[in-house]
Amino acid sequence: MEKLARKIIIIGAGPAGMCAGIFAARAGADVLIIEHGSEPGKKILSTGGGRCNLTNVRMGTEYYPGTDAVFTGDALAAFGPAETAAFFDSIGLFTADRGGYVYPRSMNAASVRNLLVSACASEGAEIRTGVRAERIERQGGKIMVRTASETGTGTVFCDRLIFACGGTAAPASGSDGSGFALLDRLGIPVTEPLPALVPLKGDAKRFRALAGIRTHAKASLFLDGRYTASDTGEVQFTQDTVSGIPVFNISGAAVRALKDGRRVSVVFDLLPEFREKDLMKTIFSRSMEMTLFTALNGLLPGKVCSHFLKLAGLQDSAEQDIADAGEDRVRELIRLLKDFSVEIRGHAGCDRAQTSTGGVRTEDIDPRTMQVRKVPGVFIAGEMIDVTGICGGYNLQWAWTSGALAGKAAAL
Ligand SMILES: Cc1cc2nc3c(=O)[nH]c(=O)nc-3n(C[C@H](O)[C@H](O)[C@H](O)COP(=O)(O)OP(=O)(O)OC[C@H]3O[C@@H](n4cnc5c(N)ncnc54)[C@H](O)[C@@H]3O)c2cc1C
Repeated sequence: MEKLARKIIIIGAGPAGMCAGIFAARAGADVLIIEHGSEPGKKILSTGGGRCNLTNVRMGTEYYPGTDAVFTGDALAAFGPAETAAFFDSIGLFTADRGGYVYPRSMNAASVRNLLVSACASEGAEIRTGVRAERIERQGGKIMVRTASETGTGTVFCDRLIFACGGTAAPASGSDGSGFALLDRLGIPVTEPLPALVPLKGDAKRFRALAGIRTHAKASLFLDGRYTASDTGEVQFTQDTVSGIPVFNISGAAVRALKDGRRVSVVFDLLPEFREKDLMKTIFSRSMEMTLFTALNGLLPGKVCSHFLKLAGLQDSAEQDIADAGEDRVRELIRLLKDFSVEIRGHAGCDRAQTSTGGVRTEDIDPRTMQVRKVPGVFIAGEMIDVTGICGGYNLQWAWTSGALAGKAAAL
């Protein structure tokens, strides 16, 4: 007797949902993807500054700090960057390695979205846009999804359900957190989602004068005065936020610590490649007639030099030569530049976040299949799972990894 195709509903046509749909359809399932937005994969269009950094050849659990390493490692071992490359090849997308960061060959995020949509169609995974999943119920051996659209409400039944609704970051692209409310009715616990890869708000008086500056620095996170994590790269100051990739990469832990009522600060080293004593030597090896401002300006943008000369109480010395400023005061200035602490009081919110931490707990999910251990037939993929990567293609890799594993397993 011919085996009936499994009916799978996927909620959310983002990267995780479409990837799951393609793998499930390839395995012979009858797939319906419902998407409440007017188009599939809207968020993909804004990824990587419109270029979509879809994965990274440097892969490992260390790129998912604060995440369950055993769970993430098991899943990445089953479907990692090599499998991702083969997947994109299979749907006709050429990719390009740019120093380990992998992009579509076209350097155009729309190519990724369009080829995923096209592969869904050719594999037979139907995408229905403008349809919102509103309630999930078990009915006999089936799972019932109540939907709402402009034309009214409806019900669809399936054997297996994959949640791929995203987290709470960038809600304008569709991930409004409504998926988590649906899980609640199924008794699947959720750790409160909080923004990550997000600008941090702090004691603006300390850095407002630096607004508009982008400079190479190391950003170290301290929680209740204890060093927790750091990253180095281009940091950016605005009127009221600090951002840039190093800040984004420590922001998830900072936001959660703030939520827990902990004291959070970020210490910037604006000259991370130099040791204090080498800097002293370098500055004092210059012509003693060079002004202190000019000596610093050889290392840092002028706005940064002015601000730190002022903080060190040296603004009057800016036009003085190095010798007049004196060794102790120059040392103090260098200390400030290498140990510039900003107290963090908040963040720029979900609208400005690239991802969210929290979601479905990894201990509740089988890492080989993404099935919820206590709720057979229900699978989770993508950002809804409490797995958060740093910048560099790691969050999309998680969408492909979890989407592929969920799609394949749900079709079995
Ligand atoms: C500006 C920006 C830049 C980024 N750049 C990168 C990058 O270069 N590299 C990288 O790795 N990561 C990047 N990310 C992160 C990456 O985009 C996400 O990790 C990824 O999109 C998560 O995929 P997902 O499928 O889990 O969720 P989403 O992409 O959020 O998709 C979820 C889908 O579900 C739909 N949905 C939600 N609820 C319902 C419902 N109740 N009914 C029906 N449909 C529903 C939503 O409309 C949405 O289409 C970036 C994020 C942002 C915001």
